[in-house]
Amino acid sequence: MTLLPLVVALDGPASSGKSSVGAAAAQAVGFRFCDTGLLYRAITWLVLLRGIDPADPVGLVALVGEVELAADEFGRLARVLVDGQDVTDLVHAPEVDRRVSEVARVGELRAALLQRQRAIASGGRIVVAGRDIGTVVLPHAGLKVFLDASAEERGRRRAEERDLDPDGPEARAVLAELQRRDDLDRNRPVAPLRPAPDAIHIVTDGNTFEQTVAAVVAAIHRAGDIPARVATAPAADDGGRA
Ligand code: C5P
Repeated sequence: MTLLPLVVALDGPASSGKSSVGAAAAQAVGFRFCDTGLLYRAITWLVLLRGIDPADPVGLVALVGEVELAADEFGRLARVLVDGQDVTDLVHAPEVDRRVSEVARVGELRAALLQRQRAIASGGRIVVAGRDIGTVVLPHAGLKVFLDASAEERGRRRAEERDLDPDGPEARAVLAELQRRDDLDRNRPVAPLRPAPDAIHIVTDGNTFEQTVAAVVAAIHRAGDIPARVATAPAADDGGRA
């Protein structure tokens, strides 16, 4: 068996902490990090900016070449550029939150982003965060983690980030929006959000951020002791279909 450097697929619903936990865990073990949600967010941002039909596969695929992931000051692929401009903050706007799942459900777009995500992971020693990483993008990842928390906990965290009254109408709207996005991501026909059968589940209700990072780091250390079967998926493109 060939020993290949570990690839960690980190999936989970909206606001489960994938990006922040994944980035911190990657840093702790000296791995690279990639947040694939930024790709879908940047395409959605362009769709809104240009008034493109979010259901038009040709229009969406044409945007892919304009979007590029970029390293932050720690070398993590946690920034996104559109035509060279850093739009990371813009792609987290509420309007992008509202529309991104509509764009991400288009199979042709997912297929167009597939090889790019696989190429990023091909060197191994990386944590890749998303929705379909363990099931579609990197089905042979040496470690798959599904990070989860109740919708209430995730909504509370998101409201806290935005400095909202946790019992107020805005916080309730945040929770409803999060559940709507999860429903769309879970029920789409192509590459739906779901744990890979061989994923480790980490439920983070009641955890501090540090506890969750420690749990992911421990899983990486355990997995590091066993050889990954193959670090990346085979070259054959399955069109992003789960
Ligand atoms: O992770 P984040 O919340 O930034 O992702 C935004 C959206 O991008 C998700 O709600 C989902 O629709 C889409 N996405 C996806 N597949 C991925 C990553 C994100 O469909 N691998």
